[in-house]
Amino acid sequence: MDELLHPWFEEHGRDLPWRKTRDPYAILVSEVMLQQTQVGRVIPRWLAWLERWPTTAALAAATPAEVIRAWQGLGYNRRAVSLHRAAEVVAAAGWPDDLTELPGVGPYTAAAIRNQAYGEPVLPVDTNVARIQERTGQDFGAGALQALFDLGATVCLARIPRCGVCPLAERCPSRGRRYDPARKQSRFEGSFRQRRAALLRLVTAEPQPVADLDVEAVDSLSRDGLVVVADGLVALPV
Ligand code: SF4
Repeated sequence: MDELLHPWFEEHGRDLPWRKTRDPYAILVSEVMLQQTQVGRVIPRWLAWLERWPTTAALAAATPAEVIRAWQGLGYNRRAVSLHRAAEVVAAAGWPDDLTELPGVGPYTAAAIRNQAYGEPVLPVDTNVARIQERTGQDFGAGALQALFDLGATVCLARIPRCGVCPLAERCPSRGRRYDPARKQSRFEGSFRQRRAALLRLVTAEPQPVADLDVEAVDSLSRDGLVVVADGLVALPV
């Protein structure tokens, strides 16, 4: 089915800035940001990040506090700490053969970098790609990756796929089906995640007395390397 995807992608593919580079670092940043943040929010942040820290050496030379500050608003802040640590490893010793040795890089992200930066014939399977494979009953080649990302994001949607405009419809056994609502993401409002985010925002503005803060959230952020506690104050790591 790859041959059906290519012409569709030529016409309908999204213009995403990380598609114009083969730099593994730039791809890594995009992948880490996209793990839990929507494409539209990631684009300006990715551009600003690469302008500020264009290489792993530049990022490795930043302090953790600078990196955590720059990540604010993207959510799931421990990704920033892992990305910084990964940059330190690469700046010191180069890219490892096994990319999963890098902090915060699992098999999916490793495959995404191998595909997009090195052009290796591996297909990283995220939820969108898995959904299309399952519905069509087809395996796709590594070269179909960007088209699959876009098809999953704009046509083969989780609940109500837009089969009428799908380039694979002719040969898809699931054409016209509807699906149950996906499980909702747990509520952010009132959650522990929200408490952590609120506390980190405060500490990002200036160090705070530990006695005034939510102790559980302080402990959790400290375990993730996002804050340090010293002399009764909670601050960003330097
Ligand atoms: S025909 Fe429908 S279900 Fe099949 S791949 Fe296309 S959008 Fe998805």
